[in-house]
Amino acid sequence: MNSIWNSAQKLKFDEMGADIKTDVLIIGGGMCGILCAYMLNDAGVDCVLVEASEICSGTTGKTTAKITLQHGLIYSKIIDKYGTDAAQLYYHSQRSAFDKMCALASKIDDDFNWCDSFVYSLNDRTVIEREIGAMQKIGCDATFTRKTELPFDIAGAVKVKNQAQFHPIKFINAIASNLKIYENTKVLEFGGNYVKTNRGKIYAKKIIVATHFPLFNKHGAYFAKMYQHRSYVLALKNAQKISGMYVDEDKKGLSFRGYNNLLLLGGGSHRTGKKGGNWQELKIVADKYYPHAHEVAKWATQDCMTLDDMPYIGRYSKTTPNLYVATGFNKWGMTSSMLSAMMLRDMICERENEYTKLYSPSRSVLHMQLAINLFETTKNLFTFTKPRCPHLGCALKYNKQERSWDCPCHGSRFDSDGKLLDNPATDDIVLD
Ligand SMILES: Cc1cc2nc3c(=O)[nH]c(=O)nc-3n(C[C@H](O)[C@H](O)[C@H](O)COP(=O)(O)OP(=O)(O)OC[C@H]3O[C@@H](n4cnc5c(N)ncnc54)[C@H](O)[C@@H]3O)c2cc1C
Repeated sequence: MNSIWNSAQKLKFDEMGADIKTDVLIIGGGMCGILCAYMLNDAGVDCVLVEASEICSGTTGKTTAKITLQHGLIYSKIIDKYGTDAAQLYYHSQRSAFDKMCALASKIDDDFNWCDSFVYSLNDRTVIEREIGAMQKIGCDATFTRKTELPFDIAGAVKVKNQAQFHPIKFINAIASNLKIYENTKVLEFGGNYVKTNRGKIYAKKIIVATHFPLFNKHGAYFAKMYQHRSYVLALKNAQKISGMYVDEDKKGLSFRGYNNLLLLGGGSHRTGKKGGNWQELKIVADKYYPHAHEVAKWATQDCMTLDDMPYIGRYSKTTPNLYVATGFNKWGMTSSMLSAMMLRDMICERENEYTKLYSPSRSVLHMQLAINLFETTKNLFTFTKPRCPHLGCALKYNKQERSWDCPCHGSRFDSDGKLLDNPATDDIVLD
């Protein structure tokens, strides 16, 4: 169940030994937290990062690591919800993060390479044409194609040239070595100008929460504004070589990229705690289209999905001026982590940033997805089965494929002994 990235040697850091003071505390050592620490350190800000386990032990270690401006059909979705100016701002913000990410990764990660990116539809040419229209309207170069390296026919694809793919752990190893990081140091409680951890207290003027799903429930209502979506990946040897990066526009569709002599096939997705295709679906696809291939690794992970498909980056809530958050990357966290690091550095250093309003975590919640999230939570709160999730008390569902207890409300997960696997819960559960 280990990803191919996680088999690379990772940097190691000590745990925190005593109470400390810092100007900025960053909680969470994934792509987002580490990039925040890197950018703040680069700006001369005194900062410390704490990680509950090992760095990149969360979603970052199990990503598919495509660096792209193509986030599904995001541009037509933003135009529908917020208009063309907002879509253009989203594009410019992601473009600046993409450029920064590629400039850095191309220097330090020998697995970085440029390639074309495709978002395809199996049977709906119109959604593809609409997305191309939306992208062209805001000045992003995108073209229509039906010619791909995929082993099946498609109705059409949006093609964007000169995107990139990389190795997330090699990248993180190169940028994290000079940063002040404590591993195995888990934040338990927020106290205003300090946090309590399992290793003592940390006093900080400003705090960034980069824990994937934000961990403080009293502020920001993230439990209503987000849910988690789980996906599965197979690494296949002897499959047809693929040089581009592909993803189905349908949330439940497939994803493809190559890495050295491997094909990374993703899919089987579902809301965490619900039924889905899992690896089984991917194995059927692999048997059908790549009969000579064999599996060398498989893994699964999940990402936080927002109400309007755009991340939450900025002040954690209106009532917590020194608490910041970066979350809800909707499975496009490589550019959005860099964007978070650039925006939060500017906010902390009191510099202007033109994207703060667009990504404000306090923006309107009036979207259909809010009703779905609230319905799921209510349903599972009033399902009287055990075990319960220590996060907010929802009934957990057993996931046979991964032998885990998963929460359909907010996505916390526990192994078959009750040990915490994925947040927002912070505690293990006791199983009868
Ligand atoms: C299957 C899949 C494929 C993906 N592929 C792509 C892709 O190709 N391109 C792309 O752009 N995006 C992709 N994404 C999205 C991207 O991988 C994520 O958005 C990104 O890795 C999230 O990074 P993060 O730092 O926010 O979270 P994480 O990597 O999960 O890091 C959060 C860290 O916080 C720590 N933590 C949690 N609680 C505490 C606490 N209380 N105290 C201290 N530390 C704590 C955790 O241990 C963890 O290490 C994919 C997502 C999925 C699910």
